[in-house]
Amino acid sequence: MKKVLLVSILLLLIVGTVIAYSVTFSSNPIKSEKIKVVATFYPLAYLAEKIGGERVSVYTLIPYNVEVHDWQPSPSDIITIENSDIIILNGAGLDWWFKSEILPLINTSGKIIVDTTEGLPLILHNNQYDPHTWLSPYMAKLQAEKILSAFIKKDPLGEKYYEERFKEIESKLNEIDEKYLIELENKKKDIIIVSHEAFGYLAERYGFKQIGIIGLSAEEEPSPKLISEIIELMKTYNITTLYFDPIYSDKYVKIIKNELENKLGNVNILKIYLCLGPIDNKDYFEQLEENLESLKKGLVE
Ligand SMILES: [Zn+2]
Repeated sequence: MKKVLLVSILLLLIVGTVIAYSVTFSSNPIKSEKIKVVATFYPLAYLAEKIGGERVSVYTLIPYNVEVHDWQPSPSDIITIENSDIIILNGAGLDWWFKSEILPLINTSGKIIVDTTEGLPLILHNNQYDPHTWLSPYMAKLQAEKILSAFIKKDPLGEKYYEERFKEIESKLNEIDEKYLIELENKKKDIIIVSHEAFGYLAERYGFKQIGIIGLSAEEEPSPKLISEIIELMKTYNITTLYFDPIYSDKYVKIIKNELENKLGNVNILKIYLCLGPIDNKDYFEQLEENLESLKKGLVE
């Protein structure tokens, strides 16, 4: 980052401290007495709210249902982070910008920075960690434990409160994990074709493989080359189901479906959620549950 930009951000930090405090956390005066938590994206904010309840005020940095890998913070985000008590990161390379672009600019004294995937059994993929841990109920539970510890450290008086609330989400996530284990046990197929390779932790735990096809620029028209690649994949593996996250446009999905059906016959296009925000009236945990239903249609039925 250039020096001039750095200086101007530092200035903004000083000037903006009071403003950001009032805008982000004090619109409700009671909120200002709560523990101020910044989570980088929706699933972490969801877990933090479930665990923290009334004692915390949670702000989500990355807007809902946008591409997270290329997102970068603005100067006002840096001010928001500067004014927080606890910063919750996914880690594993997802919020890569925190270390390089935010950490050098903020005063960390008194703040707790939680890397929720630190020390977890991460998957290496092309020499990089696969960051999509939150899509696995098992990994999400381990991430939630990190959030619980941070809350207790910052606010020991709330220990019992946080632990009770944590137990609720822990048993919910255990229940979802059990359901995945049992209901995917009798698979007839073991490969899914997905828009974005985000399901590595599910694949590893529940015994299947994922093949990603679309990448991240799904707003464009699918190219004839892409269509023929998908057809080849589906023929090779005898697969009739394609998985798409609903943040991809309908138009794109319909074109692919039409092209494939012209050449392969009946093709099912099923939704699989990336859980990057509430969508289709479903929250994070409901999307995890819905993903299982969808996986069953492609792998078991
Ligand atoms: Zn992703």
